[in-house]
Amino acid sequence: YSKKNGRNGYAFYFDELQTDSQRVLLLDAELRKAIENQEFELYFQPKIDIEKDTIQGLEALVRWNNKKLGFVSPAEFIPYAEETGLIIPLSEIIINKACEAVIELQKFGQKLPIAINISSIHFKQQNFLESIQTILERNNTPANNFEIEVTERTVMNSAAETVSKLVRLKQLGFKISIDDFGTGYSSLSYLVRFPLDCLKIDRSFIQHISSLDEKQAVVDAIIQMSHRLKMKVVAEGVEQAQQVDILRKMNCDIIQGFYYSKPLPMNELLEFIEFWEIEHQGRK
Ligand code: C2E
Ligand code: MG
Ligand code: MG
Ligand code: MG
Repeated sequence: YSKKNGRNGYAFYFDELQTDSQRVLLLDAELRKAIENQEFELYFQPKIDIEKDTIQGLEALVRWNNKKLGFVSPAEFIPYAEETGLIIPLSEIIINKACEAVIELQKFGQKLPIAINISSIHFKQQNFLESIQTILERNNTPANNFEIEVTERTVMNSAAETVSKLVRLKQLGFKISIDDFGTGYSSLSYLVRFPLDCLKIDRSFIQHISSLDEKQAVVDAIIQMSHRLKMKVVAEGVEQAQQVDILRKMNCDIIQGFYYSKPLPMNELLEFIEFWEIEHQGRK
């Protein structure tokens, strides 16, 4: 690089830093405005029950298209929102939009549970339960329309408070899933203590599953363990028919990934649901 722009390494490094910090400043300013103006949209990725051949539910994934920054990935702005505390108002916007999606789906006679990703920062807030309940009540959308996705990290310390929050969420009617399972470097003891419905096996275990025996062994073990603990298993990031075949043989319950569908905006989701129902008519 330094040769290309005729500068020494230090100057280049400095330039890079400057561009980075400029982007952070812009991101910060735009994110704050975006939260004020609710500049976000939810996309929905179908989760397929491979035994029944039905759409089992949807995962809501936030999308942000900004005038100055263009499309910004949640992998960039969610961590930044977590660092700055902006995740709390953002998370409330997302939950509210998920409620609106439930209502929209009802208009079309659809009742598919929507999984919402909850940041550990929001989950750990003392008033998390009140905050989510208030939004649901305002929209008149009961908790049994939703699933909460939390990562292992969020529930890792099985503090009494974490357990009681999860128990109360269950009592309210939410389903609870562990997201990105296998990437959290945590002990498995929480699996026994917590009232969990679903484990989502991280995409990194699903990648190369058709060619690597070791990955198959781990996925197979996770599925068997989950079933013995009365949990359903979702495989994340499934892209190929071969992966579906392998997962089917291992009795995986649910598949989510580009193989069936990318995350879709509401209008395209409704088309997907309609298409799926026509395709699978009579086979139910
Ligand atoms: P996640 O919750 O594990 O979501 C799954 C991610 O995998 C999504 O990326 C989805 O688009 C992507 N994906 C699904 N199927 C495939 C596939 O077959 N192949 C590949 N390569 N990718 C696939 P996305 O939407 O970019 O989100 C990334 C992460 O950002 C999410 O991981 C989640 O941790 C976070 N995130 C996204 N939306 C929200 C949100 O509304 N709230 C919070 N707190 N976090 C969110
Ligand atoms: Mg998720
Ligand atoms: Mg995940
Ligand atoms: Mg992930």
